[in-house]
Amino acid sequence: MSLDAVRSADIRNVSAALKRHWGYDSFLPLQKEAIFSVLEDEDSLTVLPTGGGKSVCFQLPALLMEGMAVVVSPLISLMKDQVDTLKDMGIKAEFLNSSLTVREQSFVIDKIRAGELKLLYISPERLQNEEMIDLLSSVKLSFFVIDEAHCISHWGHDFRASYRNLWMIKEVFKPVSVHAFTATATSQVQEDIVKQLKFTEHKTHIGMVDRPNLTYRVVLRKEVLKQVTRVLEKHDNEAGIIYCLRRKDVDSLSEKLNNLGIRNVRYHAGMTDEERHISQEMFSREKVDVIVATIAFGMGIDRSNIRFIVHAGMPKSIEHYQQETGRAGRDGLPAFCYMFYGGGDYRLWSFFAEKSTERETMMAKLSVIYNFCTRPQCRHKVIINYFGQLYEKSSCGACDYCLNELDMVTDASIVGQKILSCVAKVRTRNYGFGAAHTVNVLRGRITDKIESLSHDNLSVFGIMREESDVFIRHMIEQLIGQGFIERGGEYSTLSVTATGENLLAGEVEPILAKPVIAAKKKESARRAKRRKEIEWADIDQGLFQELRKKRTSLASEKGVPAYIIFSDKTLRDIAAKKPETIEKFAEMYGVGENKLKSYAEIFIQVVKNYSK
Ligand code: ADP
Ligand code: ZN
Repeated sequence: MSLDAVRSADIRNVSAALKRHWGYDSFLPLQKEAIFSVLEDEDSLTVLPTGGGKSVCFQLPALLMEGMAVVVSPLISLMKDQVDTLKDMGIKAEFLNSSLTVREQSFVIDKIRAGELKLLYISPERLQNEEMIDLLSSVKLSFFVIDEAHCISHWGHDFRASYRNLWMIKEVFKPVSVHAFTATATSQVQEDIVKQLKFTEHKTHIGMVDRPNLTYRVVLRKEVLKQVTRVLEKHDNEAGIIYCLRRKDVDSLSEKLNNLGIRNVRYHAGMTDEERHISQEMFSREKVDVIVATIAFGMGIDRSNIRFIVHAGMPKSIEHYQQETGRAGRDGLPAFCYMFYGGGDYRLWSFFAEKSTERETMMAKLSVIYNFCTRPQCRHKVIINYFGQLYEKSSCGACDYCLNELDMVTDASIVGQKILSCVAKVRTRNYGFGAAHTVNVLRGRITDKIESLSHDNLSVFGIMREESDVFIRHMIEQLIGQGFIERGGEYSTLSVTATGENLLAGEVEPILAKPVIAAKKKESARRAKRRKEIEWADIDQGLFQELRKKRTSLASEKGVPAYIIFSDKTLRDIAAKKPETIEKFAEMYGVGENKLKSYAEIFIQVVKNYSK
């Protein structure tokens, strides 16, 4: 047979396996390419966004190939869920990490020796242990997977020391191939991964980083509790994560929400292991829909039906933002991201950066994300440009800018020039003034300070009298973020930057949006409602709730998270098509052979009872 003929036979096998075990009809972008790299034993790096379907890329070849695949993952908390998912599909998989008892470990080791497993999930520390190396060298291995491969790079956002020595795989287990997977990697990080793993020749599969099913909204923070509760009203009965920057913010926001009757749990590194474990379980087992957390929460979260992410503060980089918002909508259904940022967040992060050895890198990343917050433009475009890709569409239809939710300032240059002139005029050689004083001068207020400094005699005094404080504050924040004004020093005083000089000279223009007003908020709430109606148009919501109840009870019987049984997408499909026979049930999204055997009758019964 020619090579092409072999390939087309293989493609048929691969597609059949996808349908049979996963219940999917077609591949997502780049899955087929990544799968063939594994099948053909060429080392590879695959970058696919969250929800892009990375697991299938190595789980499927592991099934088709002889021997056992070894998956290195830094996320101990996730290993169990992934292995449970595989077992529920009838695939032989186990994991080895410090969470297992000695007895459980020897049980797994016996299975490895007996060649019974198709996949073994393992922590990087354990892989580097001598006994483990001996054991793995004595059995047939199909290939290695490095999951969350960005952890290998200092340039990434989540460096793990234990990942640093993974080049040993190439030394010890040659010629077994190695396949690296990650969701977020700038080109610098990609190069680093390849270098660290000592790939010589390899294939690279880089997907679009864009997450078209996420809608981004970025708003200046005012009364954060009000802003958050408004989001929660829109997402009644849906799951979401609220991220805060500090532990004490988590505690206070969580308590306030509880007092308002909004059930939620909290999660941060200051809680005991036990407390954190309970929160995580409550959330992933769907016992509670809202979790308030620091970024300590997330690496271990795989719940696929997270419908919204709130950032009550600005993250320290676009990578972090991408990673944290990435947890929403893994099931491919629409999900919504809201960020409430403030100048204080910038100052908090720069304070940490100052003390770090990586100060320059951190500050550079910080100013990019601050610019992202303060410069109104397509959010999808900025994010994907950041990761080195072009955005072809002129409008994404899924961000506050493209949805025309922002009320743009039409004479942005004039507004910018007025503010910059004021900043420049009040400043003396030795000291400047903060935003509050600048606002007072522009609005023409006589304060003690203004009187004593005679700032009421300046030409800029009162030139923005007709605007509100909130408006001017908002403009200042955007001008800082866009690099026209610098804020610094112990008293956070303002000064005009070189780019700011260019704005005063009329050579460049800022892009400014007005603060969001009440009427717009109402409209956006109306839109959210309409959006939900459209999304659920063909789906029987009552039946969906019944199916969900059944799923929850099955999951707690089995002691696994609900999504391991079926995703929301599958339940929605059932609630829309109401299958009453096994044949019809087999056509539902995400129903493979094993799921059909285990669950078809149970869920068909729910459909029948409901239809009666
Ligand atoms: P990632 O690890 O890249 O975030 P996952 O492997 O968790 O993504 O996959 C995301 C979701 O997409 C899962 O629910 C998965 O079952 C589903 N999925 C994967 N491949 C396909 C496919 N070919 N067709 C439909 N859904 C798929
Ligand atoms: Zn957009």
